[in-house]
Amino acid sequence: MKEVLLCKYGEVVLKGLNRSHFESILQKQLKHRIAPYGDFEIQKGQSTLYVEPKDDFANIDLAFEAAKKVFGFVRIARAIVVEKDIDAIKDAVRTYIPPFMAGAKTFKAEAKRADKQFALTSPQIAAEAGGALLEAMPSLKVDVKTPDITIMIEIREYGAYIHAGAEHGAGGLPVGSSGKSLLLLSGGIDSPVAGYRIARRGAQVEAVHFESFPYTSERAKEKVLSLAKIVSEYAGPMKVHVISLTRIQEELKRNCTEDYFTLLLRRSMMRLACRTAERRGCHSLITGESLGQVASQTMQALSVTDAVADRPVLRPCIGMDKEEIVETARHIGTFETSILPYEDCCTVFTPKHPKTKPELAKVLAEEEKINFAALEEEAFAALETIWVQAGE
Ligand code: ATP
Ligand code: MG
Repeated sequence: MKEVLLCKYGEVVLKGLNRSHFESILQKQLKHRIAPYGDFEIQKGQSTLYVEPKDDFANIDLAFEAAKKVFGFVRIARAIVVEKDIDAIKDAVRTYIPPFMAGAKTFKAEAKRADKQFALTSPQIAAEAGGALLEAMPSLKVDVKTPDITIMIEIREYGAYIHAGAEHGAGGLPVGSSGKSLLLLSGGIDSPVAGYRIARRGAQVEAVHFESFPYTSERAKEKVLSLAKIVSEYAGPMKVHVISLTRIQEELKRNCTEDYFTLLLRRSMMRLACRTAERRGCHSLITGESLGQVASQTMQALSVTDAVADRPVLRPCIGMDKEEIVETARHIGTFETSILPYEDCCTVFTPKHPKTKPELAKVLAEEEKINFAALEEEAFAALETIWVQAGE
């Protein structure tokens, strides 16, 4: 008996003429993600990618976990494949299914016949398979309305696949199908979620992190790299560019009006992010801002920051409440790391009364007080890049 994975497409099936382009990106993504767990063969067919281990060393459990995090699939089933023959199917149901039924009292058998050449109809296949399972586990009861577990028999082009239900895939579009974007990644809760959201729409994501050593610590930076690593379980391996704002912040403190510190800093971050994006071929930026969450995230403050951006700033959390953002952070596994109490450059020299309704003219006047261009040139020249990959 051979165990395989059936990875079923989501939105990719809606892609008309471009479909084969999306499919090949999806196949490439899946291949890369499961590669660390052994040699697998991937075959395409009927809105599904079939993953088959090539030898006994391939670890199907780990490949299953990795496949569930590849954007572009809505459901992933771990199944057994047998010949398209009803006796072989019944045998497989009797031997393969029982371990999946632990704790279940009721079940239902369902069949799908994509291969119409197969002699039995779907209801007949389901009845035969259900009967076989009852022979193996006589204490089970059939319940077609609210079964504890539904077993599936799928008669497809390459064989008959039997499984005890598919699990949710990661949804979205395959990474690499929507261009490249640069995520402004802090150590907070919101920006990892923002990066995940845009990667889920098919963007390849790189990240930029601003530090302010020694006001921010080495451990704060390590935390951000850990977050990038968790996001990369979904988004794929990513580059994290680290830029130091220490000199800029010290100059700000020495020369500018305190109330404007945050806005001036955010504009400087935005300009540096745009430069990084330009160098790396990223067509947009991503931030974790949520409307009204803090002083720098009012509509007026956002427009003052955006005035220096030369490309779209994607803000997938803009209309989300903290609770919703936290829910996603928990789902993807970044929450526990995000709440570790390390400082961020945004919390160094924070004003007591930050401007919530800044006027651009006043911000521009403040900006004249220090030589941002030269300071940013210096910061950008010292940019450091770190390669981050899940599981390392
Ligand atoms: P987060 O939880 O993502 O840190 P936040 O609610 O703390 O967000 P801010 O600190 O105002 O909000 O930051 C808003 C956005 O600016 C962040 O979501 C992130 O995209 C970006 N940002 C903030 N600090 C940094 C940093 N040190 N490096 C890179 N980007 C940052
Ligand atoms: Mg923050």
